[in-house]
Amino acid sequence: MLLEVRDLSVSYGKAVALERVSLEVARGEFVAVLGPNGAGKSTLLKAISRACPSTGTLRFADESLQALPAHAVVGKGICHCPEGRRLFPELSVLKNLMLGAYLRKDRAGIEADLAAVYELFPVLRERAPQVVSTLSGGQQQMVAIGRALMGRPSLLLLDEPSVGIAHRLKLEIFDAIKRIQRRGTAILMAEQDAQSALRVADRVYVLEHGQVGRSGTSAALRADDSIRQAYLGVD
Ligand code: ATP
Repeated sequence: MLLEVRDLSVSYGKAVALERVSLEVARGEFVAVLGPNGAGKSTLLKAISRACPSTGTLRFADESLQALPAHAVVGKGICHCPEGRRLFPELSVLKNLMLGAYLRKDRAGIEADLAAVYELFPVLRERAPQVVSTLSGGQQQMVAIGRALMGRPSLLLLDEPSVGIAHRLKLEIFDAIKRIQRRGTAILMAEQDAQSALRVADRVYVLEHGQVGRSGTSAALRADDSIRQAYLGVD
């Protein structure tokens, strides 16, 4: 396993956000975490990237993450594309992308990864000198995903990449994420749009009130009547 999460718990003061969550992501696998607002999806991704304190076991490539600070987690190969994108709106597309490579010194590798991001999202090459605040929401999401890829992750954490994005761009973004997986990067994606997530992910965990409810392959969950009714709006 690339990522192993066992009995992960997170509390904000007295409020329990995650309670004994266990999940796994294999090398190169695409796993989605579904669940309604407030289920704990963002907290789960933050705990994995060590952006918030947690208890339990977090192992990545056979090493414990629990003792590491957030910046060291990036160095291990986990890049987090957070909810709300957290870009620098007054900096150019190119500068935002390059910030994702801030820990790296391998110039040739950085150039190659920048070319790969432009291949994935050609509009970003055209807009490279433009300040990010002038882009559409969907294009900003592409910059955020591209920035995370500039850290050359073996695991990409994506927090609701489709939120607030027009339908056409949303399909383009999910398609690009699938291509990122095909290039060999494992993906753990939090998503509220169950229909889209079940189309692209290999496996899915459903979070409810901070706990894992259902889990299984996308094919199995798509065929499950209770999932169809609760998440896909189909009777
Ligand atoms: P959303 O789709 O709204 O982001 P989510 O599934 O990602 O939902 P989280 O953001 O992880 O859920 O929140 C889980 C729970 O923890 C919620 O009840 C939320 O109110 C609470 N919570 C999240 N962040 C904090 C915080 N910084 N302080 C206190 N409570 C928080």
